[in-house]
Amino acid sequence: MMPYKYLLKCPSCSTEYEPRDIFTCDECSAPLVVSMQIGKTTNFRSSKESSMWRYFHMLPLEDKGWAVSQGEGWTPLVDAPRLARQLGVRNVLLKNETVNPTGSYKDRQISFGISKAREVGARTVAVVSSGNVAASAASYSAIAGMKCNIFAPSNASEEKLIQARMYGASFFRVDTLSSSRIFDLVIKACKKKGWYLLSTAGLYNPYHVEGAKTIAYELFEKTDSLPDWIIAPVGGGGLIGGLWRGLTELETLGKFRTMPRIIGIQSSACTPLVNAIEKDLSPADVIANPVAVGDTIAGAIADDILYDAYTALPAIRETGGHAFSVADDEMLEAEKMLAQTAGIFAEPASASTVAGVRKLRDTGLVRSGDTVCCIITGSGLKDMASARRLVGSPQTIEPSEEAFLRLE
Ligand SMILES: [Zn+2]
Repeated sequence: MMPYKYLLKCPSCSTEYEPRDIFTCDECSAPLVVSMQIGKTTNFRSSKESSMWRYFHMLPLEDKGWAVSQGEGWTPLVDAPRLARQLGVRNVLLKNETVNPTGSYKDRQISFGISKAREVGARTVAVVSSGNVAASAASYSAIAGMKCNIFAPSNASEEKLIQARMYGASFFRVDTLSSSRIFDLVIKACKKKGWYLLSTAGLYNPYHVEGAKTIAYELFEKTDSLPDWIIAPVGGGGLIGGLWRGLTELETLGKFRTMPRIIGIQSSACTPLVNAIEKDLSPADVIANPVAVGDTIAGAIADDILYDAYTALPAIRETGGHAFSVADDEMLEAEKMLAQTAGIFAEPASASTVAGVRKLRDTGLVRSGDTVCCIITGSGLKDMASARRLVGSPQTIEPSEEAFLRLE
């Protein structure tokens, strides 16, 4: 029998399983994670193509023929000296994920998820999202010729879902505010109707979340030495979990010795990660106890459960990192600063990372000689309502020479 490219492994009791459809551990019920069967001789970059699929050897898909790609990943890593001066650090690097095909890093996970859906012969995918995952799932379903059913809570913003609906997805608003209740119903429907659950939460599927780790490989390829700090927004925790997994794999391959420290930033309206770090909670505790969600402009990171607790908590704890929360006002101010010093228009949840650097400088954790890397996860074009609050109405001037000469 051919050796497997990957196994599924229990992060709690370390039992390993051959790839299969059931995603929780038989021994202890913890959600399984992917364990790539790699060694020092594994070539982590299998090609030079300008997408995340250059790392096919490191992704849990057996046959590249199933890959559904539109050039996601291999995004720019931008040096931002003006922003660095304002924040009082030596270097700020911005991983600009806003340039992904549908405008967010979720394209990495969904490109992978749809490829996995093709591998198992799915015709219809089901998604619970009211934002970036919905848009990405709808776009990749269109490419693969699959039907895409999107389910969102009753408070989902209609404006935000226009993008997803434009790609032809069917959208259903469910008359409840609870995402976990919708997940329960969607999971039951998937079983009975043969739909494929296209979730980016590791709790529901260990494969899709793997797309996020390609960001770590790119950081390694695009820098001479890795940054001291990597700062990322945290909703369900899949992004920091993925970054940590990618870095750990590179470490296994002997690529570097000093691991960057990972910082997770949350909205102060929803802080499951911050709570877990402060109170030293276990992943099982965190998953079993959803937190309250307040009003916030950072809907992209307002998850009541840290779905990827089994990888997100070690990402912070094992790298000597930390978790902070920032308020809406701080995010908006950072959104403006990011746009006006680095030329990147990001959504509030992504700008939270820049607000986070400021907080880290204030606490003294990050020092003036440090290099920080912010993961700018999604485009500001996704949330024009927040941006409008920052720029106000445009000025009208008279059509006269005098009016023009009065300008600076
Ligand atoms: Zn187990």
